[in-house]
Amino acid sequence: MPLLFFLIVMTLATSVVTCQNTDMKAASAKHKKTFEMNLSEEEWRKRLTPEEFYVLRQKGTERPFTGRFYKHFDTGTYVCKGCGNELFDSESKFDSHCGWPSYDRTLSPGSIVERPDYSYGMIRTEVLCSKCGGHLGHVFDDGPTSTGQRYCINSVAIDFKKREK
Ligand SMILES: [Zn+2]
Repeated sequence: MPLLFFLIVMTLATSVVTCQNTDMKAASAKHKKTFEMNLSEEEWRKRLTPEEFYVLRQKGTERPFTGRFYKHFDTGTYVCKGCGNELFDSESKFDSHCGWPSYDRTLSPGSIVERPDYSYGMIRTEVLCSKCGGHLGHVFDDGPTSTGQRYCINSVAIDFKKREK
């Protein structure tokens, strides 16, 4: 009888461990996050210009002071160039003098995904589109407004929808 009891306990213990492993795998997959819009590299190349592909899909950076939205202050919404996801409102844009369009907050908390970026020997926070995972730029906590945030975004990674006043 004690042996049978031991076997039952062991079986239960094993199944608990198995469940935990499955949960951990699920949590790990969640951390990597699969995006709603998930195209192959070839599909992205067809959809984007070479420069857009370089920034959005290969985490490139456009040259400072060259982007079309750097000195752009119309009223409207900035959207992801890859998928059209609404990212920033023109009201959050400020003149940062850093060479890239800059915003002090996102349009909604779910617009973007932030990830630690340790490339080039720096510790930065990468900003990705929450819908397609496209690389947009980085966010820094040295912003000049009350939010303290400075979203430094590549012009080629975004598009603009003008709002009639
Ligand atoms: Zn996107």
